[in-house]
Amino acid sequence: MAEKRWIAETLFDDLGFSMSYQVDKVLYEMQTEHQHLVLFEHPFFGKMLMLDGATQITKRDEFIYQEMMSHVPLFAHGQAREVLIIGGGDCGIAEEVLKHKSVKRLTQVEIDAAVIEFSKEHFPEFTKPVFADKRFESVIDDGMKYVARTERRFDAIIVDSTDPQGPGKVLFSQKFYAACKRCMNKGAVLVTQNGVPMFQPNELASSVAKFRRLFADGACYVAAIPTYIGGHMAMGWASDDRRLRQTPVKALAARHRKAGAFSTRYWTPEVHAAAFALPRFIADVVARARPRR
Ligand code: SAM
Repeated sequence: MAEKRWIAETLFDDLGFSMSYQVDKVLYEMQTEHQHLVLFEHPFFGKMLMLDGATQITKRDEFIYQEMMSHVPLFAHGQAREVLIIGGGDCGIAEEVLKHKSVKRLTQVEIDAAVIEFSKEHFPEFTKPVFADKRFESVIDDGMKYVARTERRFDAIIVDSTDPQGPGKVLFSQKFYAACKRCMNKGAVLVTQNGVPMFQPNELASSVAKFRRLFADGACYVAAIPTYIGGHMAMGWASDDRRLRQTPVKALAARHRKAGAFSTRYWTPEVHAAAFALPRFIADVVARARPRR
């Protein structure tokens, strides 16, 4: 019997640490215009997508990240109508956002058309409902260019990007966050994929410091995602409305009921509020994030 292939996550090679996954079957592999893309079947995690050696999504645990990147900003805001997703080509977050009936228009700006096309084939559970929804607009573009020139204004911006390498690097820059602020409505909120603080503390500190140069409130919240190795995953948070991050559990529960109390597998009003209570070592990283003038 042929030896099983193993695919390694190479994101933390420089830390002398790598995680490998046994491959039952490679479903799709290609070098796109922007990055190396491989989709394979794993015996436990199911379908797994990797871009440039970094795990993006697995069928087994995708709900944690998708729910926390969408329901936390939208329930904290409470009446978001115009929403922008930067990246997010697998459409997992878009599917969660569209569960909010208050959302009137959702625009997703993904740089790599190949990720969308292959997600239509391999992640129909996300792409089918999303592309069937009249509120959804898919734009193929560099997120930096889009926010730098759009006339639109948004109540929530969700940056579901790759890590700060290759095409994703610019999405962690000061000019990107400043351009996001330019197209945010009063009281709007920005959330970002911001790595795992245990292995990527500088990435988090650098983003929060940049947020604090632009917004009244720069912080993060956390969730544990098994295949984003390293314990807590940090999601960056920026808004000029300091109250949003303190939204009481009662208000969150009432907003979820008003939104039709759709089912979730990770997000609850209590988990939402608790996600901003940071373990000391992460709170220290955020506390050190001073905006340099
Ligand atoms: N949840 C995943 C994570 O945390 O690593 C990210 C998933 S999503 C697939 C990431 C998407 O960001 C990819 O499809 C990638 O093509 C897109 N992306 C990277 N750089 C981008 C840019 N500058 N503008 C728009 N999309 C970008």
